[in-house]
Order: sequence, then structure tokens, then C-alpha cells
Amino acid sequence: MEKKSFKTESKKMLDMMINSIYTHKEIFLRELISNASDAIDKRAFRALTDSSLGLDRSAYEITIERNKEANTLTIRDNGCGMTQDELENNLGTIAKSGSLDFKNENGKQDGLDIIGQFGVGFYSAFMVSDKITVKSRALGSADAFVWESEGADGYTIEPCEYSDYGSEIVLHIKPDTEEEKYSEFLDEYRIRELIKKYSDYIRYPIKMSVEKTRLIKDENEKAEETDKDAPKYETYTEVETLNSMVPIWHKSSDEVTEDEYANFYREKFYDYEAPAKVIRSKSEGTVSYETLLFIPKRAPYNYYSKDFEKGLQLYSSGVMIMEKCADLLPDYFNFVKGLVDSEDFSLNISREMLQHDHQLKAIAKSIEKKIKNELAKMLENDREKYEEFFKEFGAQLKYGIYSDFGRHKDVLQDLIMFKSSFEKKYVTFKEYVSRMKEEQKNIYYACGDSIDIIDMLPKTEAVKEKGFEVLYLTENIDEFAIRTLGEYDGKKFINVCDDKLDISTDEEKEQIKTENENAAELLKFMKESIGDSSVNSVRFTNTLKEHPVCLSSEGGISTEMEKVLSQMPGNENAPKAETVLEINDGHSVATTLKGLFATGEKEKVAEYAKILYTMARLISGLPVENPTELSNMICGLMK
Ligand code: ADP
Repeated sequence: MEKKSFKTESKKMLDMMINSIYTHKEIFLRELISNASDAIDKRAFRALTDSSLGLDRSAYEITIERNKEANTLTIRDNGCGMTQDELENNLGTIAKSGSLDFKNENGKQDGLDIIGQFGVGFYSAFMVSDKITVKSRALGSADAFVWESEGADGYTIEPCEYSDYGSEIVLHIKPDTEEEKYSEFLDEYRIRELIKKYSDYIRYPIKMSVEKTRLIKDENEKAEETDKDAPKYETYTEVETLNSMVPIWHKSSDEVTEDEYANFYREKFYDYEAPAKVIRSKSEGTVSYETLLFIPKRAPYNYYSKDFEKGLQLYSSGVMIMEKCADLLPDYFNFVKGLVDSEDFSLNISREMLQHDHQLKAIAKSIEKKIKNELAKMLENDREKYEEFFKEFGAQLKYGIYSDFGRHKDVLQDLIMFKSSFEKKYVTFKEYVSRMKEEQKNIYYACGDSIDIIDMLPKTEAVKEKGFEVLYLTENIDEFAIRTLGEYDGKKFINVCDDKLDISTDEEKEQIKTENENAAELLKFMKESIGDSSVNSVRFTNTLKEHPVCLSSEGGISTEMEKVLSQMPGNENAPKAETVLEINDGHSVATTLKGLFATGEKEKVAEYAKILYTMARLISGLPVENPTELSNMICGLMK
């Protein structure tokens, strides 16, 4: 019989499983049961449109068979089964793409971590078996196949007989060793325990033959009468359903432990960590439904890629009718996982119908509200946890403010935070406003790649000098979101680098106005020297302390936004900021410029103007337009 090889990745994973010293080997059963349950889900789902493929709801089952003589544990389901190709592809490769790419926090790849955190499905069975035989017959197919493998050196596959649709997985349990007692996985109590622990909520019966004892009636009666002989017992076997089958979201809240939620979440939604928050709700009205939602601790690895799909599972009275119903979640809460179950949903509801379903819209609305309230509560009561959450998903909330022309700002504005100059910690707008100075009219923010860079901006310093708090905007989306908001609680958001920055007293304003009028000729000349297309105007300022120059902007686009826009692919002609070169009127460079202009040394003024402009660009983190020219000019100064 031809032996086929596993793909390299799978082989690595298998090696890891076979030689694993992982202590929770028991999870293999959970993984196989969960596969079986998914397979039945798939069959039931297909039967919605082709009833000839389905079974009576009560006939779906998973069975477990222990055979101590043969040392085998068999898990059987009457689900969708697998074709020959599926057997090869599903069992010959790692299903959870990306699991091997996963690196732990130290950047190391750690086998134990992968097992513990991803579960890794079917392959985990190799932790306890030295041979696995899978017989399977795919839904609607006349042929069945058997796949067999003794581990990393490959597998065989060939036709076989199998009477029903579904799969049968036979684990040949490893012999006991000093450290590990594998044979316990053939013990009834151990299997019972594992099913209760991990798979109790599985909605199909998990059946197993169990040994029971009973009193022998007649003997017993006699015994009671005479009180002479001890009661007599006999043993018999009976098929028992080991799981309660009550979906976790149907149990009352106080019945479900945090661990159970976490296990359920990890398994159903492929996370390796417990969720940050579990949200449950129940609603009775024109449409009755229950929701069980989870906020993950961390964004999944593909969260910011195209193939991330948002959505909640949709159930109709405990039967899953859709894996990912996108319409139930707004984009800004797309990280939420979970499910909605309603007896009012029809089993045969189609995707198109769902889109127009106003019941669904109403549910989506209330889910949005629920998530918002829970996040607000977390922000209020568990700040640390909220900040963890915000680090992972805050960008998505800010994106939500910006998207749809700001339609969702009321939902989101109190959920977002920025670090600020106050304590370099996250603050909400509410907190910012609550400690604004009496004379402060606006909410100030500054943009840059990092807090340190922002702190070095001349205008940041000027605003801080006044005793005003500055919000640090360090992510690309930030200023777009802030500008979409425009204001909060009646206070305008002002970029410290905006020429409308208004932190001077009337007297100061008047004084600099006169100064600029007097120097109008000089300023006009400098602007022309730098180039009309580069700078919108040049002016003296009295808001800077130590710094000689800075660049500010007027109009709708700041220099930071210009940077972001120009980085977007296919956006070479992105709109540019209208910049203003501001020169510190109290600085010696101002005196020098004025002096040179008065004595007619225009060439020098022109050169200095260009140098100052380039310096200002550098301070703002903008590229130098002509580095060679700058270098020549500076060398010229040194002659
Ligand atoms: P996962 O379940 O996370 O996808 P597994 O390695 O456990 O990863 O399984 C790989 C694939 O094999 C499954 O996605 C499923 O398509 C298929 N499979 C596994 N067990 C069964 C089964 N009992 N019946 C039908 N298909 C199965």
C-alpha cells in the first residue's frame, strides 16, 4: 500500500504532538468531539436545502466506544463525513493556518504554547495514540475511505466499507509509560469527567455504553423482610448520554463558571486566550432572542488584513443557521465574537432575506447598544482592563468615528482615549474637559510619530507652557477622527500646529500684529525666496519660547494629515497642507533677518529663509525637499 507523506508544516506539528510533554493531553477528546459536532452541524445545515441528506433531529449523535482489550478509543459521528480529497487535505495538513507562524511573546516558537493556545484540532490525538484510523463517508457519496497513520512518516488512504454518512475515528492508545498513564483514557470515569469538563454543552448527545449495577429486586425484598442476607446486585450495560446538551447560553448565568465560558469561547471562536469580557443578554418582545458575546483579549493575527471577517453566529432554537452574520455587528465593533439565538428565526432564512430583515436590524441595534454600554462600564469600573482593550482595538473605534461621515460619533466619542501631556497616560475627552483651565477655550492636540517627537514640537511646548493639557495623537487615523468630531462638549479641537491656535492675550496679539505689519516687506520677500508653492505665508510669532521656527498649517489639512494621505497607495497627488512658516520674534534669528533686510543684503535673507524653512519641515517630521541644496547652504555658512 502506498504511503503518502505529510506536508512539511504538518510533519513538524505532528512531531511536536507525538513527542509532546504537554500535560493537558486530555484536550484531544474535546477536539475530536468538537469536530464531530461541527460535522453534524454541517450535515444538518445542508439538509435545510436538501432534506434527503438529513436525519431526524433526534437521530444525530456522537458515540464513544472504549475497548480495553484492543486498546482503542473510537469516536463516531453521523455528520457530513469526508470525501477522499477532504481526508487528504483536512487530515494531511494543518487546518488552522497560521498556527505555526505563531510566535510567543518572546518571539520564540514554543510547541507547548501552540498546543495549549491553539488546540490544534485533530492532530492532538497523536499525543495519546500511536496509530489513528479514520473511516469516513461523505454526505451524498456512495464511496467510503479509510485514512490511517502511525505518525510523522506518512499516511495511507484507500476505499473501505462504511454503512452510514459520517466518520469514525479509532485511536490506538499508546502503552503506559512511567510518566504517563495513557490507559486511563479508556476508563469510563475519565471519559465521563472529560465530557463534563469540556463538552457538556455540545448540542448532540454524546453516547457511551456504561456499566451499571442494580439491586436484584427479589433478593432485596427478601433481604428486607428477613434482614438476614446483604442485598444482592447485578451489573449490566446501558447506553448513556454523557452531556447535558444544554447550550451554555441557555443555562442561567449563575450556573456557568468563568472557566466554562472561556473554554466555550476558545473552542468555538478559535482563540488561545480567555476572553476579556463575556456579555450575555436576553430579550423578550416582538422578537425574542438571547445573545452571548465575547470581547477578545487580543486582536486575531489577521485582524488588520483583508481576510478578517466580522460577524456573529446565528442560531434558530439552538441550531446554527449561519456561521458569520455580518449584519449583526457594526464595523467599529467588528472584533466582537459570539452568537445570537432566536426561536423566531426561520431555519430556512437566507442571506439575502437577512439583509432586509427588520427584526435583524432591531437586534443589531440593541447589540450595538449593549456592547457600547459594557465597554463604558469597563472604562468606568476597570480602567486597567479597558486600557488593555483599547490598545488592541482602539484604532477600530477611532476609525468608526471617522467613517460614514461621523454618523457614529455619539456612540463612540466617550469610548476613545489619547495619551496626554498631563501624566502621559490615557485620558478620555470627559476627563480632559473636566480639568480644563477656566480661561481655556479649546481642547488642544498635537500629532507626531511618538510622544517624544510631539513633545519636542515648538508649539506643543508653547501650549504646555500656558498650563494647557495637550492630547498626543500618534496614530494615522487619530487626526482624521478628531477632525470628524470637530468638538466635544462645545469645546473645539485645535491642533497646536494650526495657525488658528489662540493662546495669546489680546495685548500679545495686538503687539505681534503690528510687528508683522511693519515687517510685511521682509516677510513677503522670504515667502517668495522659499517658493510660493512650498509655503503659504511667513510670519513672526510671539508664542514660541526657545525654538527659532516652526511650521503650522491653515485650512482643512494639517502637515500630519498630508503625511498620512501621501503614504496611502495610489495617492501621489494627495492634497497638501497649506503651511505657514513661523519665526520666533524674540529669537536672535529674527533680529538678524530684520537687520540684513534693512541693510539690503537680500541674498543672505533669501538663503536664511530657505534654511529656516527646511529646519521647520524637519522639526515637523516632513521630508527635506532638496537635501543637496540644504547641505550646500550650510557649508556656505561655515566658510
Ligand atoms: P479544525 O477543526 O480546527 O478545522 P482539525 O484539525 O480538528 O481542525 O480538523 C481539520 C478539518 O478536518 C476540519 O476543519 C474538518 O473539515 C475536517 N474534519 C475533522 N474531523 C471531522 C469529522 N469528524 N467529520 C467531518 N470532517 C471532519
